[in-house]
Amino acid sequence: MAKRDYYEILGVSKTATAEEIKKAYRKQAIKYHPDKNPDDKEAEEKFKAAAEAYEVLSDEQKRARYDQFGHEGMSGAGGFGGGGGFGGGGMNMDDIFEQFGDIFGGHFGGFSSGFGGGRSSRGQRVRKGSDLRVRVKLSLKDIATGVEKKIKVNKFVSCTHCNGTGGKDGHTTTCQTCHGSGFVTQMQRTILGNMQTQAPCPTCHGDGKIITEKCTYCNGEGVTKQEEVITFNIPAGVAEGMQLSMQGKGNAARHGGVNGDLLIVIEEEPHPQLIRDHNNLIYNLLLSVPQALPCGAIEVPSVYGKVTVMIDKGTQPCQVVATTQEM
Ligand SMILES: [Zn+2]
Ligand SMILES: [Zn+2]
Repeated sequence: MAKRDYYEILGVSKTATAEEIKKAYRKQAIKYHPDKNPDDKEAEEKFKAAAEAYEVLSDEQKRARYDQFGHEGMSGAGGFGGGGGFGGGGMNMDDIFEQFGDIFGGHFGGFSSGFGGGRSSRGQRVRKGSDLRVRVKLSLKDIATGVEKKIKVNKFVSCTHCNGTGGKDGHTTTCQTCHGSGFVTQMQRTILGNMQTQAPCPTCHGDGKIITEKCTYCNGEGVTKQEEVITFNIPAGVAEGMQLSMQGKGNAARHGGVNGDLLIVIEEEPHPQLIRDHNNLIYNLLLSVPQALPCGAIEVPSVYGKVTVMIDKGTQPCQVVATTQEM
């Protein structure tokens, strides 16, 4: 399906000012807000599309790139497409609330107040565990070929004795204040008319359940710390500072919910002799005068071992001799 034009989505002209764009987005975001359109998939899609359009058009640099290259200019800026189980791309509801929550000016306090987690299909909040960040050192050879890595992490996992509920033997009772929804609904009068707002239930803090007797193994937390060995594949061509994510491999959430993600940050180990320049490798070769005079083959290091490079007669200092061999 062809992507719709961002200006069209927000209903503004290509010459719209930042203020006009913000106003237009605010209008759309309120119109299609999930609070006003519960269980409405179409509204949710429109809400997301508007946020995506606003994300680009509200950023001067992104807007300029979009104006010049269209949607093509927006994807894969880093040239790293993901795949192989590494998630990414697109905006989810939490990103939107986190980034643009202030656009609602407090009308939808329940969502923009940093009450962590995603939403279930029933529109109920789901707790999400925290993300786990690990740094992985890679040699130039690992980067050239791609590599499988195993790392040991110490993370929160769901307590097996209480099934992650935190209650003794998994036993909890439904919260009487919110009747298990985890939310309390309030009516608020605003300049846009009456708005229903939702806030986390003060009694159960959004869990919907009350623990009457704590599980002794996890002290009522529903999670315990455990060491785990995680194996993952790093694709070839990654670079320093790149971040790969594995969905659901992070910390478990307290009292049930979805796991956070495992974020893998790439660190490049410097090579003793080779310098990386994007996908090229540079080797500084020192030649004595008699060597530089006749032409000849010379061995230089590569990530796979030695390779032979031809040095022509009359090669000058600082001259770049390129070889197309895989180094
Ligand atoms: Zn437990
Ligand atoms: Zn409650």
